[in-house]
Parts: sequence; C-alpha cells; structure tokens
Amino acid sequence: MSQSVLASSGGVGLEAARRRTFAVISHPDAGKSTMTEALALHARVIGQAGAVHGKGDRKGVVSDWMAMEQQRGISVTSAALQFSFGDTVVNLLDTPGHADFSEDTYRVLTAVDSAVMLLDAAKGLEPQTLKLFEVCRQRSIPVITFINKWDRPGHDALALMDEIEQRIGLKPTPLTWPVGIAGHFKGVVDRRTGQFTRMQRSPGGADLAIEEEMTDAEAAERFGDEWTTANEELELLTMTGADHDQEAFLAATSTPVLFGAAVANLGVRQLLDILVELAPPAGARPTAAGGEQPVDAGFSGFVFKIQANMNRAHRDQVAFMRICSGRFERGMIVTHATTGKPFTTKYAQQIFGQGRDTIDEAFPGDVVGLVNATALGIGDTLYADKKVQYPPLPSFPPEHFAVVRTDDTGAFKRFRRGIEQLDGEGVVQVLRSDQRGDGTPVFAAVGPMQFEVATYRLEAEFGVKVKLEFLPYEIAAVTDAAGKEILRTESNVEVMTRVRDGALLAVFPHRWRLRTVAGRHPDLHLDAPIDIT
Ligand code: GDP
Repeated sequence: MSQSVLASSGGVGLEAARRRTFAVISHPDAGKSTMTEALALHARVIGQAGAVHGKGDRKGVVSDWMAMEQQRGISVTSAALQFSFGDTVVNLLDTPGHADFSEDTYRVLTAVDSAVMLLDAAKGLEPQTLKLFEVCRQRSIPVITFINKWDRPGHDALALMDEIEQRIGLKPTPLTWPVGIAGHFKGVVDRRTGQFTRMQRSPGGADLAIEEEMTDAEAAERFGDEWTTANEELELLTMTGADHDQEAFLAATSTPVLFGAAVANLGVRQLLDILVELAPPAGARPTAAGGEQPVDAGFSGFVFKIQANMNRAHRDQVAFMRICSGRFERGMIVTHATTGKPFTTKYAQQIFGQGRDTIDEAFPGDVVGLVNATALGIGDTLYADKKVQYPPLPSFPPEHFAVVRTDDTGAFKRFRRGIEQLDGEGVVQVLRSDQRGDGTPVFAAVGPMQFEVATYRLEAEFGVKVKLEFLPYEIAAVTDAAGKEILRTESNVEVMTRVRDGALLAVFPHRWRLRTVAGRHPDLHLDAPIDIT
C-alpha cells in the first residue's frame, strides 16, 4: 500500500490552497506520458534530495503509473496521479487519448482548475489539442503552454507564438525563452529575472537535467550568434507586451509559455515551479443555484467520470468524484443530491491499474474513486451537511453516429431500459430523428470506444443483442427550431434531438458541408465546434 500523501496539516482552507489540480491537453505523441513521468520524477527526486539541484536517485524514469505508485509519496488512480512537491499536493488528472478518446476525456476538464497544453515543437497545434483546448476555452480554464521536444528540429519559437495567438486567440506570454533553435537547445532565459540557465540532459537522460546558471557575458561568449538571436527575440517580446499578466492568465485570455524537452527532463522543473506559483489552487465552485460553494464549507463533490465493469469478477461501477469543499473521510454517509438518498463511502478508493488502495481522507481538488456506485450518474453531486448541487456537466459535440437496433422483438422493454440507463450515465448520447420513423434511437459519441462499451453493456447487463448501423456523419452543431426548418431544405444534413437535454443537433458528413450550408443561410443558428482545419 502506498503511503498516503494526504496527511492533513492544516484546516480545509489550507489544504485546498496547496492543491494544484490540472490535466495535460495534447495530441497523441506530443509527449504527455513522458511529461507525466518527468513531473513525477522531479517531485520525487526533489522531495527526497530536499534541493532543486540535487543529483537525485538513480532508479531511472518510472515506466508506468503502477511503478510510480510504488515510489514513496506517489499514489495513483486510473483517473488521477497524485504526488507532493514541497508543500504542494499535485493532482494530475488523466485525459485518455488515442483509441480511448471519448466524452470522458472532455469531462475530465470539468474537474480541473488549470491545464497544461503540451505542444510538439515540430507540429504546433494539432487537432486533438484544439478540441481539448476548446473545452478549456468554454470553461475559462487557465492554460499554461509547454513547447515540448525542443531537443529536436521543429518550428521557429516566434512562429509558434504567432500560431497560438492566431489560431486560438490566447495571448502567449513566454516565461522562459530558448537559446538555440529547436534541435540546438542550449537552455532558457527566465524572462522575469533575465537569468540564463544552461540545460543539459543527464547522461542516459533518466535523471534530472543538469542545470547551470550563467552570466550574460559567459553565455554570449559560449553561444555567440544563438545568444544574440535569443536576445533580439526577447527584446521583440518585450516590445510587443508579451509579458505575463496573472489576471489575464486566470481569466484564460493569456497563456504563460515554457520551453523544454520532457524526454530529457529539460524545462520540467520550471513547469512544476510555475504550476505551484501561478496555477490556481482548488477554489470556490459555482453551484446550480447560481451561487458559489467555498472550499471550507461542509463536504461536497461531483462525479465527473464513471467506469463500469472494471473488475469482471465482481461487476461493479466506480464513480470518480472531484472534491469541491470540505474534508472527505472514508466511511462518511453523504447525500446523493439527485435522489436525496444516503450514500455510504465505505469503499472510497484510489485506483491504480488493476490494484486498489483504500483512501482515508481527501480535500478539495482531490479525486476519489467510489466503488459500488451504481446509483450515481455523471455530474451528480454528493454532499454531507448542507445541501448543495453543482450544475449538470455539459454534453460535448459528438463525431460518431450509429443507429442502434435489436432483432429480438421480445427484448424491447429491456432495450429501452438499457438505452435509458446508458444515456443517464453518459456512456453515449442518445438522439432521435424525425427522419427515422419508428423512434429508433441513434447513438452519438465523441470516440468510437463509447459504442463498444454501450453494446457490450446492453448485452451483458440487459441481455439485449444490438446491431449498429453507422451513419456517414462526423460533425454536429447545435441549432434551434428555426434552424431545423431551414435545414429541411438542405440535403446531406439531418437534425436530431438529444434526449438528455432536448438540444437540436444538426449533423453533417464533414465540416465542408457544414460550412457550405452555413454560408448559404446567414441567419441560420449553428453553434459549431472549433474549426480545427
Ligand atoms: P503521448 O502519446 O503524448 O503520451 O506521447 P509519449 O510520451 O508516449 O511520447 C511520444 C514519443 O515522443 C515517444 O517516443 C517519446 O519518447 C517521444 N518524446 C516525448 N517527449 C520528447 C522530447 O521532449 N523530445 C524528444 N526528442 N522526444 C520526446
């Protein structure tokens, strides 16, 4: 069992203030796993050596979260990695990508206080990063940008700043600036102090980077033209007002930028320091009633992710809850705000890989896995003393659509019940279309894996075998009743009603079609997802 890093040393307010709960938003292969390992390595090595420039242990980079869990002071769930770094407790929530990309990935962003946007220096902004960024933008989540892979050829640093500003409208305010173009990384200048730090990969690269502070004169002598270029760029940045502005960062209109290479641990210390210094701690949360729940009120939290059938031997369901206020203690009887029924938290756990670790207490910003949580749905609130309810989680624009049918006429009731259940849990979105007479439902999802889970569960839990007929659509935009009328005149577009919230979704085969149609009807209301082309 891991040693808990949750020892309470102060009141709930202090515990909340030392939490940093964030997620990495990136495209597959940008280096999210490498960065996760590097962050944990830093936290561990620095924690043990007690000094920022310590030599650290020589155990090497941990290869997965399970291995990290075995290291002192780091405990893991399949949804969140937690470690302490000095006085700070860092909660890094996982945003599953690749084949696991799904609505859950977006929902994770409802449970964080900030995000790190990790870009590959050679690729800049990529589609999945843009999609995740769009969710951050809608929720005004402060974003720190880390330009990764600066150890190998990539774009020009200023061009990357332009790309961020032009394409997503965030003002980049670099906190560090690289000396040496991508592929010739010499180190970074701290723009707030002007100090240059030479950075080198440790032999083998499995340890902290070797850092050496140099005077300007030393750097100029050593790096000649590269130093001159960096200084010209630094002047330009100052002239264009690209300086950090904490208010703008917290309001999600500017993004501090850092440069580095996660694989060699270059710039990772700086990122951790910035998270501690600038990223917002767990704070008051808006409630459904329009108020705010302060962190030091009684216990409350909301469910942002549900994982069913994690353990085939004992069919159960784990609800991942973000704590918003108060102290959570295992065994607490809390109230399920939706039903008013009591819910026992005897089985509160941190879950990692196949293993589970019982958790005893947790604070605002932390994530707790509740086992046997079949009564809980996505977005549900749990509270202890005074009733509070958080707003329902939003639905996100689906990109995959399939008609779902069963041939088993005797199973119709179970079919309907199963679909209701999956819809309620947020496993898939359920849509209905006037164009499909008999009320045949359409499943819609952000990632195709959601369909697999849905069909598996319909069969395993409701005994209904279903067939999916995929529809040739890949983009949805919310419209209104007038829009629905207008769209009747267009081919290759269908308007469907989302059962969960009654939203009207106009679905198109591709974004070009959406653009053509939108161009033809200037009055048409279409709330389209970010343009990722
Ligand atoms: P993920 O898909 O975002 O989790 O990406 P990974 O962390 O698995 O990294 C993808 C690939 O990029 C791996 O081969 C990593 O070793 C490599 N990589 C990650 N960070 C860096 C970096 O800073 N520099 C270089 N050169 N390669 C990196």
